[in-house]
Amino acid sequence: MRVLVVEDERKTASFIRKALQAEGFAVDVCPNGDDALAAASHTAFDGVVLDIMLPGRDGLSVLRQLRERRNATPVLLLSARGEVNERVEGLNAGADDYLPKPFALAELVARVRALGRRGAEAKATVLRVADLTLDTVTRQAQRGGAAVELTAREYRLLEFLLRSAGRICGRMAILEKVWDYDFDPGTNLVDVYVRRLRDKIDAGFEPKLLHTVRGVGYVLKEAP
Ligand code: CA
Repeated sequence: MRVLVVEDERKTASFIRKALQAEGFAVDVCPNGDDALAAASHTAFDGVVLDIMLPGRDGLSVLRQLRERRNATPVLLLSARGEVNERVEGLNAGADDYLPKPFALAELVARVRALGRRGAEAKATVLRVADLTLDTVTRQAQRGGAAVELTAREYRLLEFLLRSAGRICGRMAILEKVWDYDFDPGTNLVDVYVRRLRDKIDAGFEPKLLHTVRGVGYVLKEAP
């Protein structure tokens, strides 16, 4: 895992670099925002540790630039002031995590490791259970190698079920994630859509993947 550390205070940068290297990370250090943007444009990092207080272009500006350039590398922001406003501003600008100074190096290392996992998950664009796949970039679903045509709502339902594969999805959770409802409309909407989706992904195929958990909801998994 390759990490970019953006910090102008040499002592702090050196502590962070040594701590991450000791955990097996490859570490590049930049002392200012412009160097960091240049580095990020020619090297694919797995994570960025970005101090907000930098000379010239500050950390939030670096972060906004990265996101404007469609660079989705996970970013952990560091700040000397643990202000709520700054934290909210950072998260709104596209930060994945936030750590106020002073921090324990062990915590920083743990957060950077979590950042790497998040990056790996974000890169996984094909969701899969058995021979059912859904590509979240092309929005194509396939069962047994054959294309499955889905409406927009069916796509959202399938994506949610696949992201929760192996876990039971309650009707209310499905209404929230797929219909953005925060109330129960008191209809069998979910059941109707699940039945349609099941016709498309399970009819004529073995094993069946979309299972009903009576009285609770549904689960997408290989074994019944
Ligand atoms: Ca600094």
